[in-house]
Amino acid sequence: MSGEQYDYDLICIGGGSGGIATARRAAAHGARCAVIEASRLGGTCVNVGCVPKKVMWQAAHSREVMARAADYGFSGVAPSLDWGALVSAREAYIERLNGIYDRNLDNSGVDLIRGQARFTDPHTVEVDGQSYRAERFVIATGGTPGRPGIPGGDLGIDSDGFFEMTDRPEKVAVVGAGYIAVELAGVLHQLGSDVQLVVRREKPLRGFDAAIQDAFVESIEAHGPTLVNHFTPAGLEAAWGGYTLHGADGRTLEGLDQVIWAVGRLPNTDELGLDAAGVRMDAAGTIPVDEWQSSNQPHIFALGDVTDNPYPLTPVAIAAGRRLADRVWGGQHERRLEYRDVPTVVFTHPPIGSVGLTEADARAAHGDAVRVYETRFVPMDFALAPAEAKQRSTMKLVCVGDDERVVGVHLFGVGSDEMLQGFAVAVRMGATKHDLDETVAIHPTSAEELVTLT
Ligand SMILES: Cc1cc2nc3c(=O)[nH]c(=O)nc-3n(C[C@H](O)[C@H](O)[C@H](O)COP(=O)(O)OP(=O)(O)OC[C@H]3O[C@@H](n4cnc5c(N)ncnc54)[C@H](O)[C@@H]3O)c2cc1C
Repeated sequence: MSGEQYDYDLICIGGGSGGIATARRAAAHGARCAVIEASRLGGTCVNVGCVPKKVMWQAAHSREVMARAADYGFSGVAPSLDWGALVSAREAYIERLNGIYDRNLDNSGVDLIRGQARFTDPHTVEVDGQSYRAERFVIATGGTPGRPGIPGGDLGIDSDGFFEMTDRPEKVAVVGAGYIAVELAGVLHQLGSDVQLVVRREKPLRGFDAAIQDAFVESIEAHGPTLVNHFTPAGLEAAWGGYTLHGADGRTLEGLDQVIWAVGRLPNTDELGLDAAGVRMDAAGTIPVDEWQSSNQPHIFALGDVTDNPYPLTPVAIAAGRRLADRVWGGQHERRLEYRDVPTVVFTHPPIGSVGLTEADARAAHGDAVRVYETRFVPMDFALAPAEAKQRSTMKLVCVGDDERVVGVHLFGVGSDEMLQGFAVAVRMGATKHDLDETVAIHPTSAEELVTLT
């Protein structure tokens, strides 16, 4: 069926993490490919996600380290932040990345079509009045931040707006309980804002192991930001003296310079003309796919944040796309992404790292065959710090069966972000507790705790 009746073998709609990775890999296998991008190349991750977020985290982390300088005998370390300079340097870095992505597409022989794509039939998309036909499509249009449908919901900003802020807000409420909310709240707190993290339930980070949720809450109760829990926003009002956030129970948070909504993301499917392509969406607007990333239309695939994928993360979108390309154009017939043992890091202060099953999930699946090892300790980073500045680390291994296969690793503490990747390899390879015990420790580190747990 492939051939001259189509302009391309593959068109990827969306030039973000997933679309670019899929097109470049398919082109490497010889497919004629195009990527259609309506906005900046690199998508959410590069422009308003992982990358600018990590730069802000690094800035916040630098401040944390400088705050500890006096513990080591330094004096005169009194940092003052030029927010504008930080933002300019960050945006210049992102612009360089946009250029690199552009050149990479070019070097891979992938055409870049600028504009908003819309299906007009199952094999045709239209961009600015021009039609492009392809044998296959990958929809990788990602998502955008959602806002609560309450009076004044349009006031305040979302995570995209966070990256547009030209000044640091003095007093800010970050509303949301997911990883984006806790990350933005943490950055602003470390950089000197008075931050209230507003969650509807008892604790943020639902879905993470209970030990990690508890350790995080204990940490922010001691070191900030301020947790405001059981608070359901009912309205946001602008007044002299700042915004007032009203709770459904009558409580108010007043005098806010800024309110940041981090209440979930919505898939970019509204404007895609999916009806014309015959592609089915679910109630949330995401595109359900099977284990091969196929939508209900066998020649139209979807991946990344626009799908019902349980891990809306950049490396997941990339991995799904590359495997799909290897399968369809590279002749690797069984190649696909298995959505399990996906490691994830939350860039809090200190960070969280998690891979595999939580204890609760493991117990639900394996009952009494689960054995848990857990430790809490003050890492050496705080050896010389005064008692009130010490931050405790938490580590937990979830093991299953007589051979105690490690099915979950959950970390909270300095270095968890860089520590997790190697342990994720071990989990994927089926490491047992005995394998960890047999591994010689690296001393003195926090990571050694994971191979010396009893
Ligand atoms: C604040 C924040 C922090 C994050 N931090 C991390 C992190 O630390 N680590 C991590 O792994 N993930 C992180 N993520 C998630 C990560 O950014 C996403 O999982 C990832 O970008 C998803 O890739 P994607 O290809 O599905 O979509 P995207 O990267 O969002 O790309 C979609 C692209 O499609 C384009 N588009 C949409 N509709 C159309 C159309 N009709 N025509 C043409 N183009 C269109 C959009 O402009 C966009 O460029 C973060 C996200 C946010 C918001």
